[in-house]
Amino acid sequence: MSSPTEPGLEQAWQSDEGLPYDAVCRLCRCIPAANVTFRGIRGMILLGSFLRDDGPFCRDCGLATFRRMTANTLAFGWWGLIPFFVTPITVLDNLVQRRKVAKLAAPQPMPGFVPHVPGPLNPGKPVMSRVRSWAGIVIVLAVLGGLISLFTNADSTLGKVGGCTNYNKFVSCNSTHDGKIIDIVEDRDQCPSQSDSLLLARGLVYCLVDD
Ligand SMILES: [Zn+2]
Repeated sequence: MSSPTEPGLEQAWQSDEGLPYDAVCRLCRCIPAANVTFRGIRGMILLGSFLRDDGPFCRDCGLATFRRMTANTLAFGWWGLIPFFVTPITVLDNLVQRRKVAKLAAPQPMPGFVPHVPGPLNPGKPVMSRVRSWAGIVIVLAVLGGLISLFTNADSTLGKVGGCTNYNKFVSCNSTHDGKIIDIVEDRDQCPSQSDSLLLARGLVYCLVDD
């Protein structure tokens, strides 16, 4: 029966111009508090769940919410096409919001307000001290690195000097091949003397050595 009296008390408090604060923590009902929203993403293939946790938050509840939402986003936000690009923006936005709660004074209970939690939340470990934050980043970097090396290794020399051929076709040097391109010229007479054979393609002469 205590909660019905709460709105009235809050109304009375908010109308008191003598108080230097304009918000009470939504969770522990302490002051001072800042009106901020922390966001999170849980990626799922193409789209994902876009989460938000609205304040006002006191310093400790705000930091706790920031750390939880941001660490979870770093771990689970990347796994979708659109979420992949929105995740870094969300983390940056949370960092901006974090500044607003981090600079607040230590939370003090507000007499007459019924807290939703026993006291200010424990902020816990910083975001980058949490394994899940790094796990997501490491996996993303490994996947990106793998994709980049796949494309660069497979295609960077295809049809170029240093690339390989097999039965008069351009192939990756990582696959079965019988020739290596040592020069690309316009006329077969321009091929280096050590050329073993040549391949005519794309209006050019590819000078090959057996490989
Ligand atoms: Zn709080």
